[in-house]
Amino acid sequence: MTNTEASQSSSSSLPDNCEPVRDALIAWYEDDHRDFPWRWTEDPYEILISEVMSQQTQLGRVVEAWEEFLERWPSTADLAAADRADVVGFWTGHSLGYNNRAKYLHEAAAQIETEYDGTFPETPDELQELMGVGPYTANAVASFAFNNGDAVVDTNVKRVLYRAFDVPDDDAAFEDAATELMPDGRSRVWNNAIMELGGVACEQTPSCDEAGCPWREWCSAYASGDFTAPDVPTQPSFEGSRRQFRGRIISTLKEYDELELDTLGHRIRVDYTPDGEYGREWLGGLLSDLEDDELVEFDGDGDGDGEDTVARLRR
Ligand code: SF4
Repeated sequence: MTNTEASQSSSSSLPDNCEPVRDALIAWYEDDHRDFPWRWTEDPYEILISEVMSQQTQLGRVVEAWEEFLERWPSTADLAAADRADVVGFWTGHSLGYNNRAKYLHEAAAQIETEYDGTFPETPDELQELMGVGPYTANAVASFAFNNGDAVVDTNVKRVLYRAFDVPDDDAAFEDAATELMPDGRSRVWNNAIMELGGVACEQTPSCDEAGCPWREWCSAYASGDFTAPDVPTQPSFEGSRRQFRGRIISTLKEYDELELDTLGHRIRVDYTPDGEYGREWLGGLLSDLEDDELVEFDGDGDGDGEDTVARLRR
């Protein structure tokens, strides 16, 4: 990325060129993600059930309930024909939260059968016509079943955007940034990927390195070490200092094509002393980690004088 691309556009805090940011997130998601069974289906009914069940219940526990529910009522026709009391009983028996959700699902199934001839509508607006289906759920079904949704903005996504791109804590700003960032026509993979990022990497206490966050090289919080967010008002309690210096290395190397070891050391901490506690050995350890994560490359003649060792961002 050039400095021009890295500069912030006036209308948003996203990089001018979002393409590498998008590609990195999708590649990270496709490489490895939590394997929930509803991520394998494009059936809107199955997706709707998973979304409604997930609203109040931990995803791990939803899997079993979702499978049993679909075994018992495999289609909207089956659910519409069921006794309301049985559906509510199932809901209560699996501790899935408010009974109203079961009632609404039952009614939505009847609507699909009677008003839509058994076929789901495909846009977020039309899906919201279904009983109990709000904007978030409608968009999730449109995205995951029909690849036809808008960018999802939930608490997780806000936290990610706030930290990574300094998006201000304002609903309209989040909406704009999320929409600008989403690649056209790819709501299925994109919404899954960004929610996964918020769910397994950029959690309230983030695990940027441990989860191999694909946005470390752009992330403002990673560079500054400030991991507060709208839902994390105070700095999360974790050993953040190593992460903070890794972030500083990346943002410093972004500014300069390459730097000698000691020059880099002096730029990232005022108390850098080549042979001291925070010296070449310490910095070499950080660079090795970053090299393992394929973010940085460095080379040198290995005589340890720091002058011949040069570090640069990996492209
Ligand atoms: S680098 Fe860390 S703080 Fe930044 S987006 Fe990734 S997980 Fe979140």
